[in-house]
Amino acid sequence: MTIAFDNSYARLPDRFFNAQGPAPVSEPALIAVNDALAAELGLDAGWLRSDAGLAMLAGNTLPEGAAPLAQAYAGHQFGGWVPQLGDGRALLIGEVIDTNGLRRDIQLKGSGPTPFSRRGDGRAGLGPVLREYIVSEAMHALGIPTTRALAAVTTGDVVLRERPQPGAVLTRVAASHIRVGTFQYFAAREDTEALALLAEHARQRHYPEAAGVLGFLKAVITAQAHLVARWLGVGFIHGVMNTDNMAVSGETIDYGPCAFMDRYHPAKVFSSIDQFGRYAYNKQPDMAAWDLAQLASALLPLIDPDENRAIEIATEAVNEFAPQFRDAWLEVFRAKVGLASAEDGDAELIHTLLDRMAVNQADFTNTFRALGGDTARDQFLDPAAFDQWQADWQARLVRDPQTPADRAEQMRRANPAIIPRNHRVEQAISAALSDNYEPFRKLLEATATPFDDGPLTAEYARPPSQDEEVHRTFCGT
Ligand code: AMP
Ligand code: MG
Repeated sequence: MTIAFDNSYARLPDRFFNAQGPAPVSEPALIAVNDALAAELGLDAGWLRSDAGLAMLAGNTLPEGAAPLAQAYAGHQFGGWVPQLGDGRALLIGEVIDTNGLRRDIQLKGSGPTPFSRRGDGRAGLGPVLREYIVSEAMHALGIPTTRALAAVTTGDVVLRERPQPGAVLTRVAASHIRVGTFQYFAAREDTEALALLAEHARQRHYPEAAGVLGFLKAVITAQAHLVARWLGVGFIHGVMNTDNMAVSGETIDYGPCAFMDRYHPAKVFSSIDQFGRYAYNKQPDMAAWDLAQLASALLPLIDPDENRAIEIATEAVNEFAPQFRDAWLEVFRAKVGLASAEDGDAELIHTLLDRMAVNQADFTNTFRALGGDTARDQFLDPAAFDQWQADWQARLVRDPQTPADRAEQMRRANPAIIPRNHRVEQAISAALSDNYEPFRKLLEATATPFDDGPLTAEYARPPSQDEEVHRTFCGT
């Protein structure tokens, strides 16, 4: 099979990346191929499953026309500046134009060392590869912009993490892998020429309608305001919103210790490396704004030759994030409570529900899913706390123009029955580590149609029992 590569990033100057191939692995074996995504990319899934396809997915052979490279980037990690990060265990293999005419990166993650590996081995473990596969595909099914998983393979080699585990490679597909940290990399080197090339490349690729660098910055801000609002709408906690993990495309990227909440609590944190709750559920909008301020400051030399003027313009743009996020958040949560109209008190009404859910340890997903029926109150330790809110809600619904049938449909589409609950993800990973991929496959199937009630819904909508509950998630890359 030939892949119609069109590698625009590889045509950028040499200092944007290190051109190199993947390091071979001993004994590749297929875990999964994503048929629907392969079709969207114009790739033959049958071929991807063949020995030749497998060899490519493992990084043992390169398809014709590939221009593999490790991208250079920098970033703030938990607020601390790191002047050089870069692809330390991933390689961009090439870009294709998909069947919708969109440019997509094809990347191997876990493909061996690069000059950016620092002390890392350049490899990925089976656990994190499966987690990213499951969660990114679930996000896509939830309608939330995200990188995708085209395939996963094991390598036949062992990687040493907290404990030894099988090595694996994820084939990741993204609108691009350009991060806030990619801009920071060149800004920190005062390489204004590269910065301008990167900004124009990213603008043309993601926001061709945006005018110039400022238009690009504003478009990224708007995309992130919407993205984070969508995360909050499904109880998603990214866990590592460092500037190197924010894609300027507006796709969710770099699934590490991410997790979906079971019981709602606004300050929820799962990541074992997030000691101070920097990236807690309800801090995500502020942290996104912080990251975007770093993007804005990287772009300053391109915004105006007068630095003070540039700062003024960039600050104004970043200040737009908060109101845009508030509007996007309201849009998401209005839909969740079945409102098609807007009134001043709506935010307060929604916050009152959320506050009561937190106090009463209500399951986030199941409460919203049940809102229209008779069982939402059962989610509350004190069901009366829900009943009081419900009375106010119903009074508000009277002033909303939708028919009950339309409202029920709106709510069904805004409130998934199934999210990839942490205990299910952990079960899928631990079974796979014992060579049983059945729970992984079943979880993929259940999360593929999150808004429908199907044969797997009851089982996968069930919150964890006390001993199944996952309190901490690990990067364990
Ligand atoms: P992350 O926190 O996963 O976004 O990764 C931060 C940085 O560490 C990036 O530059 C990665 O490429 C690098 N990195 C993470 N894990 C490894 C690894 N196993 N080998 C080499 N580099 C790694
Ligand atoms: Mg990263």
